[in-house]
Amino acid sequence: MLVDKDTETTIKAIGLKNALEYNGRARTDAVIAKIMACRVDLRRDLKNLIPEIKEIVQKINVLSLSDQKALLEQIGGAKVKQEGRTDRSYAHLPPLEYAEVGNVVTRFPPEPNGYPHIGHAKAAIIDEEYARMYNGKLILRFDDTNPLNEKLEYYDAINEGLEWLGIKPDTVKNTSDDIQLLHDYGKKLILNDSAYVCTCKPETIHTLRAKGISCECRKDPNISLDRSKKMFSNSFAQNEAIIRFKGNMSSQNTALRDPTLFRIIEGDHPKLHKQIRVWPTYDFAAPIEDSLDGITHALRTKEYELRNALYFAILDRLNLRKPFLTEFSRLEFDGIPISKRKIKQLIENGIVKSWDDPRLPTLMAMKRRGFLPEAIRKFVLSLGMTLAETKPPIKTLESLNRKIIDPQCRRLFFVKDPVELQVLGAVSKEVVLRNHPNNIDLYVRKVQVSNSFYISREDALEFFNTGTEFRLIELFNVKIVEIKSDSQNQVFVAIQTGDEMKQSTPKIQWVAKEDAYPYKIIIARELYRGEEYNKDSLEIVDGVAESFVSSLNRGTMIQFVRFGFCRIDSNEVAILTHR
Ligand SMILES: [Zn+2]
Repeated sequence: MLVDKDTETTIKAIGLKNALEYNGRARTDAVIAKIMACRVDLRRDLKNLIPEIKEIVQKINVLSLSDQKALLEQIGGAKVKQEGRTDRSYAHLPPLEYAEVGNVVTRFPPEPNGYPHIGHAKAAIIDEEYARMYNGKLILRFDDTNPLNEKLEYYDAINEGLEWLGIKPDTVKNTSDDIQLLHDYGKKLILNDSAYVCTCKPETIHTLRAKGISCECRKDPNISLDRSKKMFSNSFAQNEAIIRFKGNMSSQNTALRDPTLFRIIEGDHPKLHKQIRVWPTYDFAAPIEDSLDGITHALRTKEYELRNALYFAILDRLNLRKPFLTEFSRLEFDGIPISKRKIKQLIENGIVKSWDDPRLPTLMAMKRRGFLPEAIRKFVLSLGMTLAETKPPIKTLESLNRKIIDPQCRRLFFVKDPVELQVLGAVSKEVVLRNHPNNIDLYVRKVQVSNSFYISREDALEFFNTGTEFRLIELFNVKIVEIKSDSQNQVFVAIQTGDEMKQSTPKIQWVAKEDAYPYKIIIARELYRGEEYNKDSLEIVDGVAESFVSSLNRGTMIQFVRFGFCRIDSNEVAILTHR
């Protein structure tokens, strides 16, 4: 046996499963396919592995069905653990409890009430990674049961966001597709006295819930039956009645104090328009949809933890299959609002102009700013399934992004707050500049220079005041000897001090006067400092760039030397991605 113990266990487990599915006879090709799907790390050794797999399959096929079953049970746990660990892209996700290869179904259930942000990316990536890890299925389910919040443009935005992240769901559906079914389950709960129609005023409900006291509506199931008929036949007005779960009004867990299952909402739903007025809450729709959709593992953020008991209680009373629930921590950054509600407020109040404003954590904004989906995926996986409340530093995401873009970005020159530098005796010539110090695929560019350049005021003043020699990158060394001023401009005059490259000489970027192109760079910072809106969250830096920059398409990633990585946003504007 050439393979290691762990690999052997995986082959055995997959072989046994296949055998049990086909009356005791495993098929070698099916087993190989499955192994390749869930053990990416073995693909390279496929040639050597095939004889080993054949041998194991032969041994399995001579066993009786009951022996095969017993053997699979014996190694089941080890197998799952192994598969969770070995594929490198899953490095940070622990194995899922009770997961079986081929039988895992996860779901990503966003509400189409806004543009997707990095918090959604985290959930969707985790859901997808687990589905792929176990060779299972991912369902994208639009959780659209509140017509007041949902819009068609948001369904599209979520689809586009997922596509950008490289996430391909196996099935796409809407909770609203199942609205009649959900109504039927609601009626069933009323019939078996597990829910009731409450017509109390919202304030009364609120007060009684806080005190842990039930209302009159809870007492007589016949009254509820009557009222529910009225409710579903649209005889109640909005806010006149809700359906509540019969939980436990004195429970320590307030989520169980008779939560709302259905409410009447008058609104134009993006898919069902005005057909439906009685809408289920997330608390009611989620467990039923998960159960009926065949979800094996429902992964949700930690803030739902208190509602897990309710999730299971609803399924219990309806006698429906229960998925496993697993939590992970919600993604938060300092100073960046990661909630659709907060982002919406910023837009409505005119503080932020659009959903792709580079200060926002929406996927549109992150794309516009220059973050790559690969970096976001790596970042999410680096956080793993931890429940820790600590906020991950945005620097981690930046450094993962930098590692990917650094080898692919042209190094170009931008000069902020430019001043003129005249170099005495410099001759007009064409210089060839390398676009990248070691990626030769990025070629070179040619720039016409004479004796007049732009450098930044900050550099010029510093070198003049300290008398320091400095180097114009790829040109020559100079020293500023004089500042000439007229009424409007300062012109710095320098002499050449040689061509020799010296380690200690500061090297600065420049733009030839003839080649200068007015340019702006947008710098996005945290929207909040503590609780306060950060007035400096959006800075626009004016300067000049090489005219070459104007020929680059929107979306091109570049690095402005001594400034940072940027994404071209338009002919005259780039956005700083990060330093
Ligand atoms: Zn009531």
